[in-house]
Order: sequence, then C-alpha cells, then structure tokens
Amino acid sequence: MIIDGKQAAADLRKILTIEVAQLKKDKGVVPGLTVVLVGEDPASEVYVRNKVKQTREVGMISNEIKLPNDTSEAQLLAVLQQLNNDDAVHGILVQLPLPKHIDESVIIAAITPNKDVDGFHAMNSGRLLNGEPGALVPCTPQGCIMLTKKHLGEDLSGLHAVVIGRSNIVGKPVALLLLQENCTVTIAHSRTKNLAEVCQQADILIAAVGRAHFVQASWIKPGATIIDVGINRIEDENGKAKLVGDVDFANVAAVCGAITPVPGGVGPMTIACLLKNTVAAARLNG
Ligand code: NDP
Repeated sequence: MIIDGKQAAADLRKILTIEVAQLKKDKGVVPGLTVVLVGEDPASEVYVRNKVKQTREVGMISNEIKLPNDTSEAQLLAVLQQLNNDDAVHGILVQLPLPKHIDESVIIAAITPNKDVDGFHAMNSGRLLNGEPGALVPCTPQGCIMLTKKHLGEDLSGLHAVVIGRSNIVGKPVALLLLQENCTVTIAHSRTKNLAEVCQQADILIAAVGRAHFVQASWIKPGATIIDVGINRIEDENGKAKLVGDVDFANVAAVCGAITPVPGGVGPMTIACLLKNTVAAARLNG
C-alpha cells in the first residue's frame, strides 16, 4: 500500500477549513500566520509560497515578510518582537536555513512559545518531552504519526518503532510522539552498530537521514510500515534533477506493508500540520 500524503493533507485541510470558520463564528478570531524569509534561497521561496497559498485556502490570514540577505540578527530580533506583540499574529515561522551570520538558536528562542508554530522553541520541546498539553509540536513529526495511523489505525501501542535520525526537528520529536503512542522506540543514528539488524525489528520504520536510497529492502521486516522523511535531490538516468527519499522505494515497497512516496508523502503533511499548529496557536492566544 502506498500511503498518499497528498490526500491525507487535503483531508486535514478540509477539517481545518471548518475549524477556522467555527473559530471566526464563535470567537471572532481569524488565525493569522506570518512567515519571515531572510535572503534569497530559491528552495525556501518555493516552500514559503506554498505555505502562504495553503494558509489562505483554509481561510486564515497569511503574511509574508521578506528581508534582505544582509539583515542583521538585531534587525531580525526587532521584527520578531513586533510580531510577538501583534495580537493579529497567532503563528510566527522563520524560514530556515538563515544566512550564516544569524544564529538560528537565538532567533528560535526569541519567538513567543505560544506563537512558535514550527515547535522548535525549547519551551515547546520541553512540553513535548514532559507530555504536557499545549505543546506546539514540530510539523514533520506530527505528519509522520498521522500517516502511520492512516495505515495502522489509531492504536499503535506495543509496536516497535525504529527512527533513523536524531535531529531536533525530525528524529527526536518523532521518537517522543511514538513513545506517547505507547510504541517501543529505538532511535538509530550515524554511530548505531548493526543498523540493518536494528531496522529488521521495526514494525514502524521512520527514515530521517538525508541520504538517497539509504534504507535497503533486506533491512525491512515483511509487512512493516515505512515513513520516508528524506528529501534528496539526485540526477535521473537522463541527467535530470529529481527528488527521492531515504528509502530504496522500488525494492522496499515489495517487502513492506505500506510506504510513503517521495514526493507526495511526508512533505505535503508537513505544510498541513503547520496550518494545524496555527489554528492551535490561535486557540492558545486568541
Ligand atoms: P539532519 O542532517 O539534521 O539529521 C540526519 C540524521 O541522520 C542524523 O541524526 C544523523 O546521525 C543520521 N545519519 C546520517 N548518516 C547516517 C548513517 N549512515 N546511518 C544512520 N544514521 C545516519 O537531517 P534532518 O533531520 O533535518 O532531515 C533528515 C531528512 O529529512 C533530510 O533529507 C531532510 O531534507 C528531510 N526533511 C524533510 C522534511 C519534509 O517535510 N518532508 C522536513 C524536514 C526534513 P548523527 O546525529 O549521528 O549525525
């Protein structure tokens, strides 16, 4: 089975459209997301355009602030302070990566936690770790759980989940979410020994590595659910650029029970979960 992330994202946006209309009716609040983009990274510009478009499609207010590449850290902090104090802005997202002269950790720390729709602020990571309500949870990990449940249903308890990758934006938070779902969780990384054997234990395998075709069919327990987070740009046999995941899709698909494609899997869910977080932030702040 191919787990269709585009369809899952469209379904989530439909629900959010209804929730946004309800919030407006009940409380007069229209959730607002402001995306801040510093510099001119073409990939980031595409991401931001998609985020802005989809935010508007579900009935929310979307603003984009574009700043030049030579914006100083102090200038960006001043912009964030204004947004933190603006009641019409419920969600703030600073598009990463930032130019090298700006310290990302300083910028993330400067966003009011209840407006931090990326869920990267230490307050939100801490809330997630403690299992506290009100955490704004990073979008890609949320999307991974939703896609897993599309195949396995709501109850994941007792299943063995293996996460390859331990970044703060994907690996660690997705492992915590799986733990909340009562999975037995193994986190693998570049120093893990016998990775193939570790992966062979997995009922659920989440690959967040950043290496094309890294996960092999021989690593897969027959029937496992595979969530491929990776986005890798490679050249096809004709020298044309194409996107592939971290999983050797064609061969793994023959062994596993279900798998997300790249593109069209986790990517679309990431944006839909950003909209979901903005609605949640509007409830927290509104
Ligand atoms: P990072 O580079 O921050 O983390 C990669 C992780 O993979 C690290 O923990 C690293 O281990 C581990 N790793 C690297 N090589 C190996 C190896 N040989 N064996 C086992 N583990 C290894 O990446 P991100 O978490 O930010 O992103 C991962 C991928 O997901 C990327 O392709 C990225 O583009 C994609 N992505 C996709 C998103 C989407 O919306 N679909 C959103 C975010 C990311 P160690 O810690 O030991 O170095």
